[in-house]
Amino acid sequence: MKKRKIPLRICIGCQQQKSKRELIRVVRTPAGQVELDPSGKKAGRGTYLCRCHSCFKAALAGKRIERSLKHPVSLAVIELLTEQLTPGAEDEQ
Ligand SMILES: [Zn+2]
Repeated sequence: MKKRKIPLRICIGCQQQKSKRELIRVVRTPAGQVELDPSGKKAGRGTYLCRCHSCFKAALAGKRIERSLKHPVSLAVIELLTEQLTPGAEDEQ
């Protein structure tokens, strides 16, 4: 029996392993741009983040996206990321 393996990636916010489709991929392209990668297929160095506000805040507070990608992240990218978060999740405790 062939079993399809679900690719797991670690969220930089909560450090937990999740399946790729649950996470937002942020990629630093070979051209040196930091972009969101909804397809998960862009070339470059990628990092992953849950779609929840707490992980996003933890990642921002620790500058973990920058550190992971070894590249500064522009405000435009942060705003795009914010739009990808699950609405209402910020109210969870
Ligand atoms: Zn997370």
